[in-house]
Amino acid sequence: MAEILVYVDHVDGAVRKPTLELLTLARRLGEPVAVALGNGAADTAASLAEHGATRVLTADAPEFAEYLVVPKVDALQAAYEAVSPAAVLVPSSAEGKEIAARLAVRIGSGIITDAVDLEAGDEGPVATQSAFAASFTTKSRVSKGTPVITVKPNSAPVEAAPAAGAVETLAVTFSAQATGTKVTARTPRESTGRPELTEAAIVVSGGRGVNGAENFGIIEALADSLGAAVGASRAAVDAGWYPHSNQVGQTGKSVSPQLYIASGISGAIQHRAGMQTSKTIVAINKDAEAPIFDLVDYGVVGDLFDVVPQLTEEVRTRKS
Ligand SMILES: Cc1cc2nc3c(=O)[nH]c(=O)nc-3n(C[C@H](O)[C@H](O)[C@H](O)COP(=O)(O)OP(=O)(O)OC[C@H]3O[C@@H](n4cnc5c(N)ncnc54)[C@H](O)[C@@H]3O)c2cc1C
Repeated sequence: MAEILVYVDHVDGAVRKPTLELLTLARRLGEPVAVALGNGAADTAASLAEHGATRVLTADAPEFAEYLVVPKVDALQAAYEAVSPAAVLVPSSAEGKEIAARLAVRIGSGIITDAVDLEAGDEGPVATQSAFAASFTTKSRVSKGTPVITVKPNSAPVEAAPAAGAVETLAVTFSAQATGTKVTARTPRESTGRPELTEAAIVVSGGRGVNGAENFGIIEALADSLGAAVGASRAAVDAGWYPHSNQVGQTGKSVSPQLYIASGISGAIQHRAGMQTSKTIVAINKDAEAPIFDLVDYGVVGDLFDVVPQLTEEVRTRKS
């Protein structure tokens, strides 16, 4: 059976959810062979094996942490040459897309970015993309070389599928370009203690209706009562009320949680593009004509300053 190379996104050996989703998709196409690089690479093996990786190629070297993406591209290319896979799958983060693009140029292959689904086809994997703020769905396949495809988070379920996950050390020779861009400082983002937005099972978002940074506390309180991540519309982000890293939508992050609660958000197409695949959508808006209500499973027409604190209180009461 053909082997499918899967680039692993992990933090010190803890595999991030989008990589586990990639393994689900990779299993539709062939046998997943994972490539884990950097500190803790070997610690990824158990989780990758549990989700279907037949082999786990690992490499660690100071270059992965000290320089930007090129050392990782060198390593992924080494894995590509060692395995001769039928396709290479990479998570669609900013770094993942840069790594994938550089690899595709080096190996003379076509690339598809931001796929939201993948299926096996007679002439290679067929990727689904969502275009123009989700107004169109396209299907494409790479027609030259080995398909290199980046896949957005939440595009597939995480499925247990135990496999051998045999750990092998990957031999990497760094190219002359590897040390071209050095990391000079790192400042970790202050942890909020909340789940990562793109991986959260519940997201509570606030928009222009929240009417000020100081009022986002009520959105955070609801999120915390539910163990949720906090999202924001672009209007709220542009007003400086919440960080850009929390923006949901076409130019922000795509989320697909079990539950999405939109408060004071009108439901512009660019916002919908980032959340409309959520399983259950709830909106709180004082305008009964707001377009978000076309999309929801449950809608509350009301002032969020009345509704959200009551909802938070109710959740807390039921949990205690
Ligand atoms: C190229 C491009 C890319 C974009 N990308 C994004 C993106 O990634 N994400 C994104 O979100 N937007 C994006 N936008 C912007 C988008 O078009 C909208 O302008 C934006 O989503 C509006 O944000 P909002 O719903 O918070 O604000 P508004 O549209 O102003 O809606 C505010 C809503 O709050 C309600 N409200 C007000 N007060 C209360 C209250 N007290 N209680 C309850 N409800 C209340 C109002 O009835 C209204 O429906 C993009 C636009 C462009 C052109």
